[in-house]
Order: sequence, then C-alpha cells, then structure tokens
Amino acid sequence: PPLYKQRYQFVKDLVGKYKPKKVADLGCADCTLLWMLKFYNCIEVLAGLDICASVMKEKMHRLYPLPADYLQPSERSLTVTLHHGSVAHEDPCMLGFDLVTCIELIEHLEESELEKFPEVVFGFMAPTMVVISTPNSEFNPLLPGVTVFRHQDHKFEWDRAQFQSWALDAAKRYGYSVEFTGVGNPPTGMEDVGFCTQIAVFVKKYPQTMFCMFLHVVKVFRAVYPSLKDE
Ligand code: SAM
Repeated sequence: PPLYKQRYQFVKDLVGKYKPKKVADLGCADCTLLWMLKFYNCIEVLAGLDICASVMKEKMHRLYPLPADYLQPSERSLTVTLHHGSVAHEDPCMLGFDLVTCIELIEHLEESELEKFPEVVFGFMAPTMVVISTPNSEFNPLLPGVTVFRHQDHKFEWDRAQFQSWALDAAKRYGYSVEFTGVGNPPTGMEDVGFCTQIAVFVKKYPQTMFCMFLHVVKVFRAVYPSLKDE
C-alpha cells in the first residue's frame, strides 16, 4: 500500500490496541485520519486541528453523522470537533486527550513553531500517548527525483539521529518514554537507510510526582486565564 495509507494504518493499529477514548489529530489537513478513526467504537471524542481552515473544510462532510446513525442510534456517543489554529498555541480546547497524533506535521513547522511544539503537546496537552511521524532523510537517495526535500513546504527533513535526539530530549524533559519505529520498508540490501517514514511513540510515565501534577495545573490555569499571566 502507498506510504500515507501505511501511516494511517499504523495509527489505526495503535487505536485498536490501546483503545483510547479521546483522540486529537494535529495537522489533520483534509480530516482523512479522523474519518477513519470515527469507526472505532472505543473513541468518544475526536478532535482535529489545522492552521489551514480551507483544507479542513474540503472533505469535512465525511465526519457528519450518517443516515444510519439517526435511524439506529447506538449506545456510544461520538463528538467530533475541528479547530482552526496552530500547534504552537496553547488552546484549552485541546486538553484532556488520551492519544495525540502528529502525522507528517513537524517538518512543516517554522523554527519558532517547532520550538514551542514540545511545550504545547507534552507540557500542556500532556496526553497519555503521542505519535509523531516525519520523513527519514536517509531514505531520500532511494526516492526518484528528490533533490533537497520530499515536499516544497518542508522546512527540514531529519535523519534518524536528528529525530531521535530531538524526541529523546522532549521525552526526558516532559516525563515520557519513547520508542522508535517506522513504515515504508527499504528495499532488500538497503536496510541500512531505515524506514521511509520514521515514527516516535511516546508514553507518559507514571506515577507522576505531585510536583509535576501541580506544575501542570498551573500551566492549564495560566492558559485558561491568560489575562492573569502578567499580574
Ligand atoms: N496529517 C495529515 C496526513 O498525514 O495526511 C496531513 C499532513 S500535511 C503534510 C501537514 C499539515 O499540517 C497541513 O495540513 C498544514 O496545514 C498543517 N500545519 C502546518 N503548520 C501547522 C501549525 N503550525 N499548526 C497546525 N497545523 C499546521
């Protein structure tokens, strides 16, 4: 299957395995992943966030309830919300999620946005699990026609060492463990380059100390009442 489908399948497998109730997809684009996740009965809340409102609206209709949902209402309730905004901004709407997915998002972030990203996702949203995928630049020589980056909107593409050191640093700072994997197998004999898409799966460490919990409450409070920040 094409690479993007393998990435979505990776997230679907995680959802099937860990059964999160509340899932947020950051950089959700045309909401394809959200639409796929809608069919998992464990999920009660789905949220999408993207900086581009028009791309979110393109196929948004797929998230509406189906006629069958009205004819045969099920026990399970599902709330889907879409938010127009940036991952560089602490939005109280994005609190309380079990799983946060960031599929092919970070390489689109400006330096200043990427700097804020770990604090927003791990520090503020602080979900149980975070999945981040990004291109593995070591695979690029195997892709026909790729000279600098795979896409003109990419601000960077990291090799495995770069991605892993960034991810390990964020994990350490915010109390997560992290494991690395990927999708898109290299051809036989070229295994050294690694996966085409590299993926990090972060899991929040427990038990959290009282001090960490206290700091998180302060963070949330300050985001909900920004006017109190400077007082
Ligand atoms: N996650 C989707 C997928 O895997 O099919 C789409 C990934 S697309 C390559 C990157 C998306 O990130 C775009 O829809 C873009 O608008 C969005 N994006 C870029 N910067 C963002 C930011 N600061 N905050 C939220 N979304 C952003």
